Amino acid sequence: MYPEGTTLNGLNFRYQRSAQASAGTLWYCARMVILLGPPGVGKGTQAQRIAEQYGLQHVSTGDVLRDNVHRGTELGRKAKPIIDRGELVPDDIVLAMVQARVVQSDCKNGLILDGFPRTLRQAKGLEGIYRLYKSRSTTVLNIVAQPELLVRRMTNRRICKMSGHIYNLVNRPPMRPDICDADGSELMQRPDDTDAVIRERIRTYECHARPLIDYYSAQGLVHEVQGAADPDAVRANIMKVLDREGPTK
Ligand code: ADP
Repeated sequence: MYPEGTTLNGLNFRYQRSAQASAGTLWYCARMVILLGPPGVGKGTQAQRIAEQYGLQHVSTGDVLRDNVHRGTELGRKAKPIIDRGELVPDDIVLAMVQARVVQSDCKNGLILDGFPRTLRQAKGLEGIYRLYKSRSTTVLNIVAQPELLVRRMTNRRICKMSGHIYNLVNRPPMRPDICDADGSELMQRPDDTDAVIRERIRTYECHARPLIDYYSAQGLVHEVQGAADPDAVRANIMKVLDREGPTK
């Protein structure tokens, strides 16, 4: 019915139709949690913990992009130079990627979106997605911290190559140097975690963040959480918000 490549709000009809056609795909998403905040504020760490605690699927656009880079896909080849410069991958690419991901059946109990949306256009595209797939509740958490703290954290960040578990050499070191406590795999530093690229990523975030936060604030969805505290304290504050804003609300 729709020609290939037809888009509405940046969404591809081909994906919507294939999602409708196949069994076990998502018709509604019980709960959507959106994590906003600058690079290094702890979105990934918190998303992993909150996902486990609330049975939500953690979807990180950064992880999906890095996986594509790692596998050398067409998307990965396009995205790599952009990521290496600390800039944003084009909205259409990211939207198609997210849409393909969130219609999978493992997302139907709820999602925690980490690193998406990052622009107003992505936020409007996401709205198109959950109008179609019907999310019963949406909570936006804006995690905030000072830029110098972010730079310090990210230069000390190490990530498990296999599981994606996140460590920090200063405040959350692994028990054995460069080895993941959870599965014994090697830890690595992200190539874009260098001082110059980190500063560019923070600058890029700040350019896009204000309109995004205003957009969600106008809908009464935003809750600010301080990200400078230790991860357990940040998580406790996030849980207070999520427990208050249940999916039945
Ligand atoms: P960061 O901590 O820098 O926010 P992420 O892992 O979320 O790290 O993202 C790494 C890079 O992937 C970003 O600098 C950007 O180039 C790209 N990226 C991730 N998510 C998006 C998005 N929603 N839109 C555009 N680019 C993205």
